[in-house]
Amino acid sequence: MEHSLETLKSCPSCGHKSFKNTLSCIDYTYSKDKFYLVKCSACNLLFTNPRPDELAIGKYYDSPEYVSHTDTNSGLLFTLYRIVKRYTLKQKRKSLEKFSIDKNILDYGAGSGDFSNELEQNNWNVSAYEPDHNARKKIEEKNSKIKLIEKLRNVETESKSVITLWHVLEHVHQLNETISEFHRILTTEGIIVIAVPNHTSYDASFYLTDWAAYDVPRHLYHFDPETLETLMSANGFRLHQIKAMWFDAFYVSLLSEKTISKPGILKTIFGWIRAFLIGSYSNIKTIISTKKCSSVTYVFKKAI
Ligand SMILES: [Zn+2]
Repeated sequence: MEHSLETLKSCPSCGHKSFKNTLSCIDYTYSKDKFYLVKCSACNLLFTNPRPDELAIGKYYDSPEYVSHTDTNSGLLFTLYRIVKRYTLKQKRKSLEKFSIDKNILDYGAGSGDFSNELEQNNWNVSAYEPDHNARKKIEEKNSKIKLIEKLRNVETESKSVITLWHVLEHVHQLNETISEFHRILTTEGIIVIAVPNHTSYDASFYLTDWAAYDVPRHLYHFDPETLETLMSANGFRLHQIKAMWFDAFYVSLLSEKTISKPGILKTIFGWIRAFLIGSYSNIKTIISTKKCSSVTYVFKKAI
């Protein structure tokens, strides 16, 4: 398959020029190609290198298996995914509403627009950004009151009191540039909410290269609490809160089992049971420390 890969010569977070090779992972979803994860020797950020450039990445999302952009998948796993999603959408909205701020949000990387829609229907003023053409069409069909924005630089300075990135930051090519734009458009008292997978979780250490949340090459960065905080504080933010995403340990474990298990009903049942046990153990570790959760939601505010 012909792809346009770019090799980063400096760390996308801190700019340091030496990296260590760590893991190699297969893109099970689309290309079946192998990708390498390297770790910055200065800030410890783990990132995919080489990676598809901004023009080439689109086609790696072109798979019916890519759940976040499609509402039409069938099968038990996707049915469970949708049930959990309906519940977590409400929880996410309610957790935002605990902050006493204006209901004025930019949902960055809105996907098919379910979260934006949940907010708009509860009297939020919603702007959404989504680069994928088909996903954008779905947002328009779902709710015409959601304002789709074309470019961050067209958004007015200090005009949004909330910016959300639900499993999005790990997909963003222009990392520091984008975060500094968030800093510009966020109000002084505003919050930015970032949910990303955590490669220091127990499920990640169990599944190793087959951990589904590495999701190469769509995931360009593989954050942990320290590397994300380093990146955000370099861009003028301070960590305000971290929260566990309990369902992700189960979901990611199930997806990981799906890629490694061979066909056969017994192997499938074994995979489901093991995923449940690994997800449970990962969540027990999370009870001890939120920083060990399979996916973490971080709330940042502007540093004074
Ligand atoms: Zn670095």
